[in-house]
Amino acid sequence: SISTETSVDRKVRVTYEEVGGLRREVKAMREIVELPLKHPELFVRLGIEPHSGILLYGPPGCGKTLLAKVMASESEANMFPINGPEIMNKYYGETEAKLRDIFKEAKDNSPSIIFIDEIDAIAPKREEAYGDVEKRVVAQLLALMDGLNDRGNVIVLGATNRPDSVDPALRRPGRFDREFEISVPNEDERFEILEIHTRSMPISDDVDLKDLSSELHGYTGADIKSLCREAALKSIRRYLPEIDLETEKIPSEVLQSMQIKLIDFYD
Ligand code: ATP
Repeated sequence: SISTETSVDRKVRVTYEEVGGLRREVKAMREIVELPLKHPELFVRLGIEPHSGILLYGPPGCGKTLLAKVMASESEANMFPINGPEIMNKYYGETEAKLRDIFKEAKDNSPSIIFIDEIDAIAPKREEAYGDVEKRVVAQLLALMDGLNDRGNVIVLGATNRPDSVDPALRRPGRFDREFEISVPNEDERFEILEIHTRSMPISDDVDLKDLSSELHGYTGADIKSLCREAALKSIRRYLPEIDLETEKIPSEVLQSMQIKLIDFYD
């Protein structure tokens, strides 16, 4: 894409093919995120305002950040990530100004997705450590979100592991008024995620990803990704004794013969 002096390119490139499981969530988000970002004119014609905020919740490593990136990528939108704890601490005293800057930049470079990870750090429930600073920051965030409405070319995705710790004021109509639970994958979903993360790996015939997925109960997407990576590293260790590392380049027939075997997926 073309980048001029006044426009930023915050594009990410991740496709729907890189998301395992989460089919219902992706389908729904295509309607409420991709559609208004790509075709705001549809919503203008129908006289409705698109959702401006969507809350993704669920345990770590199950794809909240991945989904935000995919939605931005597939909607051809710029992505503006905000890390909740970081903006509260690193910019202490300037958090509101920083939020205003990011929202302005997102508007100036729309279509955009603002992704607020660990949003509970910005907008905790009132009972939880809720001082004047937090009150001002939440008020600022809400004001910025209220100011987004009308055109739908900026959508805010918030993510949290602790939905019950988010200020309920955030979950009112016109704010984060759609929610999706992004939960730990089931067996079929684990299989899809295994396929995705082994796609570019030379996997030996003795590896049956279906069998493997049945044994990974409780593994998140992030766990599966790291399992695949570990397996690849273990396979290298197996081959190491046969490889002459002094040669300038490992011969291609040696590389070609390398495979990740079933044992590599186990301790
Ligand atoms: P956190 O709360 O820690 O931010 P998260 O839910 O945002 O967790 P991600 O950061 O999206 O999790 O996941 C980490 C990595 O794990 C992703 O980059 C991706 O490679 C892999 N992953 C997680 N879920 C999936 C999935 N459903 N399909 C494919 N890969 C996944």
